[in-house]
Amino acid sequence: MTPLRSPYDLSPSDLAALAAEAGQPAWRAGQLAHWLDRRRVTDPLAMTDLPRGFRERLADRLAGTGLEPRRHQVGDGGWTHKLLFGLPGGDSVESVLMLYPGRATVCVSTQAGCAMGCTFCATGQFGFTRNLSAGEVVEQVARVWAELPGLRPHPSAPGHLTNVVFMGMGEPFANPAATWGAARRLHEGFGLSARAITISTVGLVPGIRRAAVEPLAVNLAVSIHAPDDELRDRLVPVNRSWPIADLLDAVRGYVEATRRRVSFEYALMRGVNDGVEQGRELGRLLAPLRVPGSGGHAAHVNVIPYNATPGTGFSAPSRSAVRRFRDAVAGSGVPVSVRANRGAGIDAACGQLRTMAGRPGRAPAPPLVTPGTSG
Ligand code: SAH
Ligand code: SF4
Repeated sequence: MTPLRSPYDLSPSDLAALAAEAGQPAWRAGQLAHWLDRRRVTDPLAMTDLPRGFRERLADRLAGTGLEPRRHQVGDGGWTHKLLFGLPGGDSVESVLMLYPGRATVCVSTQAGCAMGCTFCATGQFGFTRNLSAGEVVEQVARVWAELPGLRPHPSAPGHLTNVVFMGMGEPFANPAATWGAARRLHEGFGLSARAITISTVGLVPGIRRAAVEPLAVNLAVSIHAPDDELRDRLVPVNRSWPIADLLDAVRGYVEATRRRVSFEYALMRGVNDGVEQGRELGRLLAPLRVPGSGGHAAHVNVIPYNATPGTGFSAPSRSAVRRFRDAVAGSGVPVSVRANRGAGIDAACGQLRTMAGRPGRAPAPPLVTPGTSG
C-alpha cells in the first residue's frame, strides 16, 4: 500500500473517500484535487472554499505528512535555487530550480540518498536512507512551483514550471512505483506534457524496459559515463549487473517502441574518461542507434564537466579536454552538447546533492536565506 507521507499520496479515489467520510458531497473531492494539483496549495486550512469543519478534519488527517522547507540557497545571481526539504520521519532531500529566459526546470529527488554507489557521485557516497513516496516527489514540484513567482530574478523567467527532471538524489528506477506514480500525477493533475518530464537512470535495464511500455512517453536520459565495461564497472557498480551491451539493447528496445531520442549523460572527469579515443569510442558505440522510420540519430550525448565533490578523488576536466572530447564524439555524427554548469557555487550542480541535515546525530543545517518558503 502506498504510504501517506504527503497530501499528494492521496489518489482521486482516496480524496473521494475522505469527502464521503466527512459527509461531504462527492464534488468536494474535485475541489480538493484542484487545490492540490492546479493551485499547488498543500495546507487544507488555506483551501478557502471548503467548509471549515472539512478543512479542519483534513488538516488532522494530514498532520505529520508533507515536506518541511528547511533551507533555501540562491546561486547564479538568482537563476538557480536549491531547496532542502525535511521528510516525515526526519530524513531530508534536495530539489534544484534552474531558471532561464522562457524556461523553469525543477530537478527532483526520488530517494533520500542512493544505493547505487557510483564512485564519483556525492549522493552515492553518502549512502541510501529510504525511498520517497510518489507524493513526496510530486510535493517537491508543488512547493517549488508555488514559490516560483517570488524567486524569479528577471521577468524573462516564467512564473510557472515548464520542465521537471528526475535527476536529483536517488535512482528513479530503483523506486519505480514512486517515479511512475509521480510522473503520471504531474501529467494528469499538474498538466505537464510527457515531453516536459525527463527521467534519468544510471542504467537499470528492467526500468528502461518498463519505460518502453509505459503509456506516458516521458524523456529518458541514461547515465553512461564510459565507453567500455572495464571503466564503467569502476565508475558505476551496477554495470557489473547490466553491462553496456545489455544497456544499449534495452535502450534500442525503448527507441523502437517509442520512436523517442534518448540522451546519454557523460560526466567528464579529468584523466579518467576524458580522452579523445574514449570520445571516439563513445561515438562509435552510439552512432548505430537510430530512430525507426526517420533513420535519424536516436542518441544525444550530454557532456557534463565533472563538478568537484570533495573526497571522491575525481576532478574537473580542462576546458580544452571538454572541447576535444565533444569533437571526438561529434566525429561519428552523434549529436553532442556540453551542459552549462549550474549551481556549483551552492553545491547544487549535478551529483553534488547530499544532505547531512536530518541524519541521525547531526544538527540540521542553519537556515540561510528563506524568502517566502511558507506554505
Ligand atoms: N541516479 C540517476 C539520476 C541522478 S544523478 C542517474 O545517475 O542518472 C544525475 C546526473 O548527474 C547523472 O548523470 C550523474 O551521473 C551525474 N553526476 C553525478 N555526480 C556528478 C558530478 N560530480 N559531476 C557531474 N555530474 C555528476
Ligand atoms: Fe545514484 Fe545517480 Fe549518484 Fe549513481 S550517479 S550514485 S545512480 S544518484
